[in-house]
Amino acid sequence: FLPHLVASMEEVQETYVMVKPDGVQRGLVGEIISRFENKGFLLKGLKLFKCSKELAEEHYQELKGKHFYPKLIEYITSGPVVCMAWEGIGVVSSVRKLIGATNPLQAEPGTIRGDLAIYPGRNVVHGSDSPENGHREVALWFKADELCEWVPAQLPWLRE
Ligand code: UDP
Repeated sequence: FLPHLVASMEEVQETYVMVKPDGVQRGLVGEIISRFENKGFLLKGLKLFKCSKELAEEHYQELKGKHFYPKLIEYITSGPVVCMAWEGIGVVSSVRKLIGATNPLQAEPGTIRGDLAIYPGRNVVHGSDSPENGHREVALWFKADELCEWVPAQLPWLRE
């Protein structure tokens, strides 16, 4: 255990990432998790989960009233999702870059949506859009005892 390699708490962020039902049905779970694992972020929570309409509505509360909202709730509750909590310095914006633009046709090649999806309503993955929403969404989707604090063996090779 190398204390100087553990970042100070102010710098560390957490973000909520979710493989949406289309990603699960298309067998893309491993591919999507690998993008964040290979980048070097720390996985704190992981589960396969069928979410209720109430939870989907709370998660997407900021989008209530948008024309696509009813279809979005139907989509997210249509099958199991894979819920993840990731931790790291700058993890929120980095994960958003790795995921790519909301409309997969506009997402850059190399991003998850750019490589794996075509339609906004089937864009395979979610990532929190701010550190505040990262906290809110991790707490919404995970119970405290489902999150794991640990130090990966590769840490000295990830941090300078
Ligand atoms: N969405 C959609 N049509 C739109 C805009 C958004 O179906 O025109 C869906 C899409 O699945 C998106 C989700 O609603 O991922 C949440 O929208 P947001 O603007 O928060 O995009 P994100 O942060 O997921 O890129």
